Amino acid sequence: MTSPSRRALIAGNWKMHRTIAGSVELARAIADGARIGARTDVVVAPVATALAAVATALRGTAVQVAGQHCHWEDQGAFTGEISAEMLADAGCRWCLVGHSERRHLFAETDAMVHRKTVAVLRRGLVPIVCVGETLAEREGGVTFEVLRRQWQGAIGDLTGDDALRFAGGLVLAYEPVWAIGTGRTAKASDAQAAHAYLRDRIRHDFGDVADRVRILYGGSVKPDNAAELLAQPDVDGLLVGGASLDAAGFSRIIQAAG
Ligand code: PEP
Repeated sequence: MTSPSRRALIAGNWKMHRTIAGSVELARAIADGARIGARTDVVVAPVATALAAVATALRGTAVQVAGQHCHWEDQGAFTGEISAEMLADAGCRWCLVGHSERRHLFAETDAMVHRKTVAVLRRGLVPIVCVGETLAEREGGVTFEVLRRQWQGAIGDLTGDDALRFAGGLVLAYEPVWAIGTGRTAKASDAQAAHAYLRDRIRHDFGDVADRVRILYGGSVKPDNAAELLAQPDVDGLLVGGASLDAAGFSRIIQAAG
């Protein structure tokens, strides 16, 4: 289980699912139904159109709201985009950055991930920066190389002090691409190895701040495998896609965090 210096974090990524009314209903069901431990943070990431309504519905509860994505500029001629400032205005405290679906379906590069990470931190939101290898990369034995490149690409010239100064910190999510939405979860020992590698890289670049950066695992997390993943020393929480759309199942995952 997570180190005493790091709170557990369970985040639900609702992707492009649910209307405003459906999102509010799901958010309320999670806030009402989940027993959230004193040392656990819970975050949900609804579609952009539902952010403000969900944030309003969750006011006064222990569940917070995240954007799924944002642009690095505050405003401008960027049709279809939304800024970190706008996410904060809608009630978000967090934002996913560099999710593999953004990287692979919408061609987000490491350089874009970096600009977004900085924009999110500057707005006082916590970025949840996603990294992870494809199946071909894992089978080709380059998993750690990919993780190193994506980590370094995301932080660029940021320092550990920057990461902590701007906001409540920086969160990393290790999400092997081959495990996302496939029903194929990484073995807990493989997840731990990737998390330990990432923590080493964070320590290399940020020093002792590494002990405060939370690293989530994501990829086909379900109520039945959450506890085993959370039992790994460097797994500080979970980023949950499909299973976060079911309030009862997501509540069981939250409970696995203690
Ligand atoms: C995700 O969307 O980040 C994710 C991990 O999805 P799933 O849990 O459905 O694999």
